[in-house]
Amino acid sequence: MKRHLALFTIALLLAPVAARAQGKLNVMTTTEDLASIAREIGGDHITVEGIAKGYQDPHFVEAKPSFILKLQKADVLVVVGRELEIGWLPPLIQQSRNSKIQPGAAGYIDASLQASILEVPTGQVTRAMGDVHPLGNPHYWMDPENGKRIGKEIADKLSELRPSDKAFFQQKLTDFSTRLDAAEKRWLAQLAPYKGTKVVTYHRSFPNFAERFGLDIVGYVEPKPGIPPSPQHTLDLINDMKRQNVKIVLVEPYFDLKTPNAIGRDTGAQVLVMPPSVGGVKEITDYFTLFDYDIKMLVEAIKKTGAK
Ligand SMILES: [Zn+2]
Repeated sequence: MKRHLALFTIALLLAPVAARAQGKLNVMTTTEDLASIAREIGGDHITVEGIAKGYQDPHFVEAKPSFILKLQKADVLVVVGRELEIGWLPPLIQQSRNSKIQPGAAGYIDASLQASILEVPTGQVTRAMGDVHPLGNPHYWMDPENGKRIGKEIADKLSELRPSDKAFFQQKLTDFSTRLDAAEKRWLAQLAPYKGTKVVTYHRSFPNFAERFGLDIVGYVEPKPGIPPSPQHTLDLINDMKRQNVKIVLVEPYFDLKTPNAIGRDTGAQVLVMPPSVGGVKEITDYFTLFDYDIKMLVEAIKKTGAK
């Protein structure tokens, strides 16, 4: 009897919590970067979970059945877009049979719509070229200015879905943008002395980052986005790097270090594993610490090599 009473009391205490939880929009995002920004905008009015982990290549994510279950329950799905997720997301969305999050539905948010996109191809692009960036560079979140635009896209769409929370989402957006502006000033100041530093990156994950913070990307370990390094390309790259005195190679955490390390040995360049995403390493817990971490590592490396 006493035990029943205790359970009953617990049920009473939990009831209001459950009621409130029902009122929250259930937001799924394809990446942890988008999850972090969605969390900034939605606050405690939403629940958020990212699908791909920050240490995984966002082009090639293993489509697990558990993702379908999560998408079935989602009110909202935020995607990077520009075909970043084309290799794995469409079947998951289809199999979820959730009409709220199908492309074109009110709960489907393409975060790229207001963003500044680089490397948009002119002329005809075919898959035979092996290019995984057919609609421009999809790694656009690596510029805090685009972070604000992503935030605005999410705030606008959430406001449409929940008009009663519009003032809340817009206030959260203002707050996020203000803090991001302040942080961006700090990041720009940290890298200002090294403007024009020449770097090589493995994949084309960093053009927006380089443009914002004044790095000069002179080559890539991959001959084309999504195509593994070939001996001839590597040789040409090494010669280029020697000619231009490039001393930094940036590698995303999910690529094999064998070729970058060989390039490093031959050119004397430092090889840095630089995460382009939240969750890439455990220290990068949100969109702000992503830039904190990467910029600190980069500045230390540039100082050490004296490369510029
Ligand atoms: Zn890419």
